[in-house]
This record gives sequence, C-alpha cells and structure tokens, in this order.
Amino acid sequence: MTATLIDGKAFAAKVRAKVAEEVTRVKAAGVTPGLAVVLVGEDPASAVYVRNKGKQTVEVGMESFEHKLPAETSEADLLALIAKLNADPAVHGILCQLPVPDHIDADKVLDAIDPAKDVDGFHISNVGLLGTGQKAMVPCTPLGCLMMLRVHHGSLSGLNAVVVGRSNIVGKPMAQLLLRDSATVTIAHSRTKEIEALCRTADIVVAAVGRPEMVTGDWIKPGATVIDVGINRIDAGVKDDGSPRTKLVGDCHFDSCAEVAGAITPVPGGVGPMTIACLLANTLTACCRANGLDEPEGLTA
Ligand code: NDP
Repeated sequence: MTATLIDGKAFAAKVRAKVAEEVTRVKAAGVTPGLAVVLVGEDPASAVYVRNKGKQTVEVGMESFEHKLPAETSEADLLALIAKLNADPAVHGILCQLPVPDHIDADKVLDAIDPAKDVDGFHISNVGLLGTGQKAMVPCTPLGCLMMLRVHHGSLSGLNAVVVGRSNIVGKPMAQLLLRDSATVTIAHSRTKEIEALCRTADIVVAAVGRPEMVTGDWIKPGATVIDVGINRIDAGVKDDGSPRTKLVGDCHFDSCAEVAGAITPVPGGVGPMTIACLLANTLTACCRANGLDEPEGLTA
C-alpha cells in the first residue's frame, strides 16, 4: 500500500473532543445542548444506530432524548411528537431514524422538523440554503467527508472532484460542499458514460454508490484522494462452526485503490465514525444558533 490512510476513527475522536470542549463553554452560558432521536419500529440495525447516537451524545456532555415508538404508530401521532419536540426549548436537534414503516410518509416527517433543529440536514429549507451557499444545517455524512478533506488538503480550491452517486443524503450535498470550497465538481451516476476515465481525471474521488468494491485502482489517478462512503456487507466464506461469515467493505476496492491513491479512507473506520461525530457537531451548532451564542469554528461547512 502506498496511500496515506485517512483515519476516520481518529478524526471522529478529535471532533468529539472539540464538541465536548464547546459543550462545556455553552453550558457555562446556561444552556445544555439536547438531541432528540425518534425511532419507529424494531429494525435491529436502526436500534443499534440509535443506541450509539444516544451514548455518544451523553459522552460529550449533551442531553439525549430517545423516543422509541411501536411500529404501528400512526403518521399523525409521529407528526404530533415532532411538533412537540419542535416547541421544546431543551431540544436543539431532532433526528427521525430512517427507514420509517411503510404506512408513514418519510418526506412528510422530515419536512415537519423545524429546519433550525434539522441536524440531519434533510429538510427542503436546508437543502435550498446549502445549494445557494447560505448558512444551513449540513447532512452529517458529507460534512464528515468535507472535514477530512479540508484537513488532508488544506485548500480544496481548484481541485477536480468526482462524486460517484447522486443521492439526496450523500452525493448531491457532497457535491454542493465541494463546490462551496471551490473545487471543480462532476457528479457521476448509473447513467454516466466512461465513468472510469472520468474518475481518472479527479484529484478527489468520493464514492457513494452502494456497490461493493466497484471503484478499483485503475479508476484512480496516481496520488488522488479516495473517500469511500460505501458500507456493504458481503459474504466472506464460512466460520469454523459452519455458519456464514460476512465482512464490511466499501464502494472502493481498498487494496487496488490504495496502491495508486495518495490518500484513502478505509471501511470500516473511515467515513462511518465521522457521521455520528458530525451529528453531535450539528446539534451543538443548532444550539448555539438558537441561543445567539458564537458558533464553534471548524465544526460546520
Ligand atoms: P443510494 O442508493 O441512494 O444512491 C446510490 C447512487 O449511486 C445513485 O445515485 C446511483 O445512481 C449511483 N449508482 C448506482 N450504481 C451505479 C453504478 N454502477 N455506477 C455509477 N453510479 C451508480 O445510496 P446512498 O447515497 O444512500 O448511499 C451510498 C452508499 O453509502 C451506501 O453503501 C450506503 O450504505 C453508504 N452510506 C454510508 C454512510 C456512512 O455513514 N458512512 C451514510 C449514508 C450512506 P442513479 O441515481 O443513477 O440510480
């Protein structure tokens, strides 16, 4: 491997430490930042995410409010809870864990969250603010990628970036953030022609596709930075007891990309840990904005 490893776990620990320090400052001003996480149903993966978020929220000194609702909760009841959280001055950030059960319209729920408390950055107002270069709540995963890129590169100005994937939660906001930092940005997707050659023109490749190990070393320009957002669980043979073994891989083929790239994020331990760290950062930012306090530097876009 020739590439420098961009250690997302270490980055995330630094972000959490900075958030904890700032929480102390904010508490001294008489406010405790609070994050409300709403989980509808019993999806096991979502339950793990919610538990981790709650634990890390408390660890940095913030208040964590968990609302676990049964799967049969009506859309009206969920919207009523969101309205209550919107009005609660102790709650500065609200996150509704996705996916919600099929009988609930996720877009309706996300749009019911007060944009100022929308720490996921999915509300249409925040999408518009980000797209027009104004102060927004920025989606956590792309924000985490941006923070790592800024530290690694210093300035992103004039760099060619290719974002592979155009989802509303990763690809599009990632492209907006890179553009905001004056990179020259191309968004690739499933209909893009000659995607390998396109990626080979990039100083930065961000892969957010959901296809295990799709981006290989021959897609990468020597020395380029590779940010792998993908989280894919694939088969990895069988255990001694005969049960199936699985492993997590990204959207990039790590070994071949690492032979060519200048720097690369691993999976796991790259973008993933930064996502929750940025959720905490966004909650702190929302709290500061709500209370007219100075926003901490380096924790938002
Ligand atoms: P989506 O499925 O919403 O979007 C995937 C995008 O990839 C689409 O724009 C799609 O294009 C594009 N795509 C699919 N196949 C190809 C292909 N063969 N060539 C080029 N582009 C293709 O996924 P998400 O953005 O939600 O997530 C992407 C990955 O990131 C997933 O692995 C997910 O698990 C991971 N993830 C990780 C997070 C973290 O914290 N690390 C957080 C969020 C997501 P088209 O629009 O044309 O269909």
